[in-house]
Amino acid sequence: MIRITDRTNCCGCEACVNVCPQNCIEFFFDEEGFGYPKVDTRKCTGCNLCEEICPMSKSKENDADLLLGFIGKTNNEEILRSSASGGVFTQAAMNFLRDGGIVYGVAYNSNFSVSHIRFAKEEELYKLSGSKYVQSRMGDVYVQITNDLKNGKKVLFCGTPCQVNGVKSFIGNNDRLITIDIVCHAVPSPLLWKCYVSDMNNKYSGMIKNYNMRDKKYGYQFSHFIAYGDKEKEVYKGGTFFNQYLRAFFSGICNRPSCYKCRFKTIKRNSDITLGDCFYAREYGASDKDGACIIVIHTINGKEIIDNADIQRIPIEINTIVKRSKEITYSTEEDYRRKAFFEDLNKHNVNIVLDKYFPMSFIVYFKYYLRIVLCKIGLHDFLKRSIIRFRK
Ligand SMILES: Cc1cc2nc3c(=O)[nH]c(=O)nc-3n(C[C@H](O)[C@H](O)[C@H](O)COP(=O)(O)OP(=O)(O)OC[C@H]3O[C@@H](n4cnc5c(N)ncnc54)[C@H](O)[C@@H]3O)c2cc1C
Ligand code: SF4
Ligand code: SF4
Ligand code: SF4
Repeated sequence: MIRITDRTNCCGCEACVNVCPQNCIEFFFDEEGFGYPKVDTRKCTGCNLCEEICPMSKSKENDADLLLGFIGKTNNEEILRSSASGGVFTQAAMNFLRDGGIVYGVAYNSNFSVSHIRFAKEEELYKLSGSKYVQSRMGDVYVQITNDLKNGKKVLFCGTPCQVNGVKSFIGNNDRLITIDIVCHAVPSPLLWKCYVSDMNNKYSGMIKNYNMRDKKYGYQFSHFIAYGDKEKEVYKGGTFFNQYLRAFFSGICNRPSCYKCRFKTIKRNSDITLGDCFYAREYGASDKDGACIIVIHTINGKEIIDNADIQRIPIEINTIVKRSKEITYSTEEDYRRKAFFEDLNKHNVNIVLDKYFPMSFIVYFKYYLRIVLCKIGLHDFLKRSIIRFRK
């Protein structure tokens, strides 16, 4: 029977909740807003299925022979603009739906909470584009995927490596299930996101209709967190190192405990395809205008998906990807103030907490507006690349 005594041992994939034949595992949320399983011991028969299914105790590595690396992006400009990096996921998903398959990915719900959702229609695919920097709820997608496969459908699932491992463990080997995992820095607290959304709602009097946490309209190298109102009107915008929610995310102060000791960090993933950001595309002769992905193919099925999609790509050494995209193999570090941060979040308004840990100092404003000016005169990307080259 599953019992979580150390929270780093649970990635919150909910596979155990779905597998329990007695339906006696509740998914409860702790004071940081992360979900964990809790067994009703009165109903538990001790069958041990929950422990057997848990991806945390299984091999994180694929034993397939294939390991191909590419830098790539979709040829569809609309998809590229709405995606976090090279739009490879949405392009692949579009083909998959056209072939009669079913796609599972992450979308905002009506209150902007984030979860995995089943999609069968191409018109709705836009909801899946873009990174949502908060842990998504898997809910009962395991059962939905099982039903789709039973009904003869092909399924494409995209999520974090731990979620992919949860799905693979639950479903077992099935040639009709294709999985894509993302290169994953970590996932932030749903409680922090909920507080942030509520505060933004108050600040902007309920005008916000959509969020894009990685908007590229100011350039891929200078992406923005943008809150949109009606008719795509910008209600709020802030660059990655300006917006306090993203600063909290990248600092390592608000992530799931399992992310600091992530057990899924490897280049030989259990998925069919791995996708990540590629900020170094130009150095290897590829275009990064409006975004680019690194693509790692692990299986023949994954290769087929990429070969058939309308994607431009160039090969790149796997060793280069490992060296340049450190998040593939290394866990993010925990901010030493994490405990105090969550204590404060439970006591005070999120605004007060973010201002305390991520103050909006003169320097922060100065750097942000300087970058905007550099963008406008067309020098931002050039200078950023030069600085990176100089540091190397
Ligand atoms: C929380 C998070 C952290 C990331 N960290 C890194 C990193 O450190 N380095 C790096 O190179 N790349 C990182 N990425 C991946 C990167 O931002 C792109 O998602 C990836 O390159 C694929 O890009 P794309 O343009 O093809 O598709 P996108 O349009 O970005 O893909 C959208 C799909 O990504 C998946 N997705 C989005 N949000 C979530 C979520 N919260 N949980 C699970 N799946 C989600 C969904 O299936 C969604 O449908 C991260 C993404 C997320 C969500
Ligand atoms: S041991 Fe079996 S019955 Fe008990 S919680 Fe786990 S899956 Fe459910
Ligand atoms: S990692 Fe997933 S399967 Fe394992 S205990 Fe946590 S929620 Fe359950
Ligand atoms: S860092 Fe690891 S544990 Fe955290 S969400 Fe990503 S894959 Fe899961």
